[in-house]
Amino acid sequence: LGGSITRALQQMSNATIIDEKVLNECLNEITRALLQSDVQFKLVRDMQTNIKKIVNLDDLAAGHNKRNIIQKAIFNELCKILDPGKPAFAPKKGKPSVVMFVGLQGSGKTTTCTKYAFYHQKKGWKPALVCADTFRAGAFDQLKQNATKAKIPFYGSYMESDPVKIAVEGVERFKKENCDLIIVDTSGRHKQEAALFEEMRQVSEATKPDLVIFVMDSSIGQAAFDQAQAFKQSVAVGAVIITKMDGHAKGGGALSAVAATKSPVIFIGTGEHMDEFEIFDVKPFVSRLLGMGDWSGFMDKIHEVVPMDQQPELLQKLSEGNFTMRIMYEQFQNILKMGPIGQVFSMLPGFSAELMPKGREKESQAKIKRYMYMMDSMTNEELDSTNPKLMNESRIMRIARGSGRQVRDVMEMLEEYKRLAKIWSKMKGLKIPKKGEMSAL
Ligand code: GDP
Ligand code: MG
Repeated sequence: LGGSITRALQQMSNATIIDEKVLNECLNEITRALLQSDVQFKLVRDMQTNIKKIVNLDDLAAGHNKRNIIQKAIFNELCKILDPGKPAFAPKKGKPSVVMFVGLQGSGKTTTCTKYAFYHQKKGWKPALVCADTFRAGAFDQLKQNATKAKIPFYGSYMESDPVKIAVEGVERFKKENCDLIIVDTSGRHKQEAALFEEMRQVSEATKPDLVIFVMDSSIGQAAFDQAQAFKQSVAVGAVIITKMDGHAKGGGALSAVAATKSPVIFIGTGEHMDEFEIFDVKPFVSRLLGMGDWSGFMDKIHEVVPMDQQPELLQKLSEGNFTMRIMYEQFQNILKMGPIGQVFSMLPGFSAELMPKGREKESQAKIKRYMYMMDSMTNEELDSTNPKLMNESRIMRIARGSGRQVRDVMEMLEEYKRLAKIWSKMKGLKIPKKGEMSAL
């Protein structure tokens, strides 16, 4: 796909005159590429119309930045499709919420339920899992195994065949046990059929979920829209999770799922393991869809805002890929100052969505400062190491005491470090493009 779009834009920039015909050819080429990425035909067609309205031929004819103008227009249009205009219901820590997962069999519901629970557990929540899939033999065993591995309480039955009864019992039990995130896994059966949707409607009516999450396999193709719409018609879907983003699919179906459910994508699954789960970030997702790579915007930003004399040192650190606590500390300092380097880091996928969600800047700053206080109680050896094993129990207790914090706060900070180190390690050995090279697709 990337190749195809690059080619289209390349041809366009080689054309001496940019007239409507050239623009149309270019847009048709891009349309084909997006269809191959499983973006729904109707969405692509609408986008094409919008772009023609936005892109002013006179600007293009003037000769500069043709590719940039079109690229930006496409990028923005795709981002717009992924933004349904209102955020998903956000459960609150300490307040009981019921979250129901729906989706076809094999889409990754059971796996994703556990990932979602584990993700919140690491942040100090008390999640619990309820298996309301009584259709597939082995469903309860699978959930039990996952839950046991993550030490998350679970509820289900080998005997009971009524999913509504189990769902209600499970939710009641975990409410009594003061769990704040009660997750109901459901059956998907094998295809879209009336009985499945009726079952979802009943489970939802009986458990009154605060949020219904639609789980979709990224490789579903053009079927995404109808599938998402069918679920939306039987239950109040309020968020989407796209799974198997580690595979070949670019995930263009996500755009259909958002359009059909009018709900945002909140997470993506990137592997079979419990921690292969990321907060959904629109811009890197669209970059990938367009074959631009996750890092292009980031690299552009480095060249744009970091003072020339500081660029080599920063790029050197990035390409070495070793993320120490000290580097994390320095980047936190930069972010708090919001100087040029801070701006760059706030753009890194993972830094931005997770650490500094939009509209919660004050909270994020307080969190970053809290982390830094704790790191102030660490030794130089600890700060310069990339090996978190150095942090044994007694060290963690010392750091907590030294900074007037709880052990779980230190654990949270270490989790954050591990998460950022993982993102950072993807930069290892990266060939750093020279200024200007990245602005072309
Ligand atoms: P369910 O039928 O909807 O509950 O789906 P499951 O959770 O049982 O998942 C079906 C298969 O997809 C399993 O083999 C999972 O390991 C796999 N799976 C789920 N999510 C992901 C993902 O993000 N990446 C990959 N590679 N595999 C996944
Ligand atoms: Mg399942």
